[in-house]
Amino acid sequence: MKVETIEQFRNLVLTLGLPRTDVVLFGVICPYCGKNDRVRPLDPPEELKVEELGETNIDLYDRIWRELQPGESLAVCKFCHNILQLQGGDQKGIPLYEL
Ligand SMILES: [Zn+2]
Repeated sequence: MKVETIEQFRNLVLTLGLPRTDVVLFGVICPYCGKNDRVRPLDPPEELKVEELGETNIDLYDRIWRELQPGESLAVCKFCHNILQLQGGDQKGIPLYEL
């Protein structure tokens, strides 16, 4: 896993204002900053709308999403803006890399 790829994805999430939904996974602790009320699940690429975000952005999001998560979901911490992986039925946040 390349740190640059994660950074690119993180910037894309910030730029596009993702996730589109306003769901918070209460109880899931951010592995980076320790907050337990700021983790939001990210939209799977197939749920994003080209007319809203543009094809180039979605293609990039889709490509990195597949690269980052083999089967698990991704989430973003809205406090520290880091990307994390969700495991155990979205119960546990796992860092994509060690800071
Ligand atoms: Zn955090």
